[in-house]
Order: sequence, then structure tokens, then C-alpha cells
Amino acid sequence: MPVRIRVAHLYPETLNIYADRGNIAVLERRAAWRGIGFDHVPVGIGDAIPQDANLVYVGGGQDREQALVAGDLVGKREMLADAVAGGAALLAVCGGYQLLGRFYRDRNGCELPGVGLLPHFTVAGERRMIGDILLRCELDPGEQRTLAGFENHAGRTFLDEGAEPLGQVVHGFGNNGEDGFEGCRIGRAIGTYLHGPLLPRNPWLADWLLRQALAHALGTSPVLTSLDDTIEDTAHRVAAGRARARGGRG
Ligand code: GLN
Repeated sequence: MPVRIRVAHLYPETLNIYADRGNIAVLERRAAWRGIGFDHVPVGIGDAIPQDANLVYVGGGQDREQALVAGDLVGKREMLADAVAGGAALLAVCGGYQLLGRFYRDRNGCELPGVGLLPHFTVAGERRMIGDILLRCELDPGEQRTLAGFENHAGRTFLDEGAEPLGQVVHGFGNNGEDGFEGCRIGRAIGTYLHGPLLPRNPWLADWLLRQALAHALGTSPVLTSLDDTIEDTAHRVAAGRARARGGRG
């Protein structure tokens, strides 16, 4: 039987502010180049999340777009919690990342309810956190990696005590411009502020997500054939160089 993965893409018409489709395109291509099928399932307001989804994707959006979907996303809480508890992978970016926490309070003090899936909350500040960002990550023990991307958010995200960040900020703001961490991770689920889109310039993370999705689909941790990532690695170096040129943190 050919191997296939099902990807539930939440609110693709609404939470898509910074080329989030590029993340989906990278996952689809890197799967296809390895002969792995890729079923892309758009999930809009009122739609159910397929119970056999191997990966869930939630993109970014401005406050207005977040307000359009927040109530419906909370209504999907149980489906999301079941998917993640069952070992599905998840990538949530910026606005989608914020809404997977307990709440997002905008600059006017208006509080959007969150799903409560990720252990954090977010409060928007006056100054937007904008620019190239570089992180140091270790998703698999002993495998130190860097992630390069672009951030643009008013929200300051604060992780609960003991919660696992996605990585340490080398250059840029990160979750809140204070604690030196960025993103959040629980098992195969990742939330991050890194846009750009994230995956074209960080192929190792795209493959990490594909491996998690395949492990969920097959019940075993597959080895992916390596690809020629010359172009992707160059894009990573350029983005990392831009972040380093910003200097310090924030
Ligand atoms: N509206 C949120 C903020 O400003 C998220 C923005 C985004 O998704 N880029 O923090």
C-alpha cells in the first residue's frame, strides 16, 4: 500500500497572513519527492477535524481574523486534544499559536478565548515585535539545530512554569522579548512565531514534522531519504545572516 499522510489545515482562507500556504507546499513537495501521498484537508468554520489526521496546521492572522475563528476553534478543542493526545503532529504559527493557548488579549484589552491546548497565554503590547529571528533548538536529544524566520506580532506569549519552548532566541524577540525563549512544544505539537514562511528555509523542521506525521500514520518512526537541500540551506544561511545583523536579542 502506498504511504499517505492526511493534513488538516485549519482556516486556510482566514489564518494565512504570512505565506502560510508555503509551509503546506513544502510539506507536500518533500513528501511527494519521497513517494509519500499527501491528503490536504481544509477545515473551516463549522467543519470537523478528520479523526485520522496525521498532522494539523494552523496559520497566522491579524487580530481581526483571529476574532473571526476563535470561538469556532474553541469548539474544536476536544478534536484537537484527541488528535494531539493520539500522537498527531501539529504546527501552529503566530496567530494560530496564540489561539492554542488559554487566551489572547489584544491591545484594547479584548480577550479572545483560546483552546488551552498549549500551556501559555498571550497579551498584546504597544510595540510590535518585527524582524528576522534566529533560534537554537534541540527537538531530538543531542541534535542541536537552528531555525531562521521572520516575526511580526504584538502579542507577548508567556509559557507556564515548566513548559517546553521550541527554542532559545539567538537574535530577535521570541515569545515576549524578555525570557529569551520562542515558541512552545508538547511532544509532536509545535507552536511558533516564525513566519516567512517557516519551512522553506528550515528543511530539517519540515522533515521532522513529516517524520512525526508518518510515525502517527504507520506506528513506526520512518527514515526519510535525504534530499538535495542546497537551495533551502542557502535560504537558511541568508535568513540567519539577516537575524545576526540585527544583533542581540530584540
Ligand atoms: N494578531 C496577532 C499579533 O499581532 C498575531 C499576528 C500574526 O499572526 N502575525 O500578535
